[in-house]
Amino acid sequence: MNIVVAESAGFCFGVKRAVSMVEEQIELHPDKKIYTYGPIIHNENVVEHFRQQGVEVMEEDSDPASYEKGIVILRSHGVSKKVQESIMAAGHTVVDATCPFVKKIHNLAKDASEKGDYIIIIGDRSHPEIQGICGWIEGRDFTCIETEEEAENFSLDDSTRKITVLSQTTFNHKKFHDLVEILGKKGYDIYALNTICNATEERQDEAARIAGEVDVCLVIGGRNSSNTRKLYDICRQKCPETYFLETADDLNREVLCSARSVGITAGASTPAKIIQEVISKCQK
Ligand code: SF4
Repeated sequence: MNIVVAESAGFCFGVKRAVSMVEEQIELHPDKKIYTYGPIIHNENVVEHFRQQGVEVMEEDSDPASYEKGIVILRSHGVSKKVQESIMAAGHTVVDATCPFVKKIHNLAKDASEKGDYIIIIGDRSHPEIQGICGWIEGRDFTCIETEEEAENFSLDDSTRKITVLSQTTFNHKKFHDLVEILGKKGYDIYALNTICNATEERQDEAARIAGEVDVCLVIGGRNSSNTRKLYDICRQKCPETYFLETADDLNREVLCSARSVGITAGASTPAKIIQEVISKCQK
């Protein structure tokens, strides 16, 4: 049986970096209290693994001062300036594991707003990444746009004011261009920067390609991981024999009996160890 494993399966660059920063802090400071601001990734296995090594999750929206002083590691999708400052003001040391691609958006939002631009963020306003980005805008003079209707309805009192448009890293490229086009037709002075990260799209394209070439496709990830569910849907369209696994225990060997080829991919928060366990089970 031929097993094809997607190169882009599992952690992206930013998540890998954040997880290794937690490992590094555990090693460097065995005597200190270590927290992650919210779960470091949306994977209970990983969070539990760190919990057993003494890493506690600091609840978002809680008061950092109510926790024993320690090291607080910020997640890959970042936090607002206010949150970062409140953690430091409570006497904790901040270790910033914000993905450099997200940090770049924080800096762009901050610089453009300091120059007086109005900021439009294209993305899901309820997502922590967007909330973090909005929290770096000086003067809080901004709006979030996610749908064509919102873009159509947008208007600014001062039509001569420059507008900087930024996007959530995981937003869809085509949708971003469509929304910018709608905004562009309104006659404002718009400077749009596509700040979408390609990691998600590359993972989805590779998954679709592999699913189209194999008899059985296995998609590994948490049941509540939206990017894994999306991968599953993409693969299922190309390969009817697509299965969703959380761990190797979910793999029913019978589905592999008549398969000559198996494709394996995984969501952005699936650890390499779980992917490897599924590969080993297939090989057996
Ligand atoms: Fe991963 Fe891209 Fe998000 Fe960074 S910006 S955490 S690389 S998906």
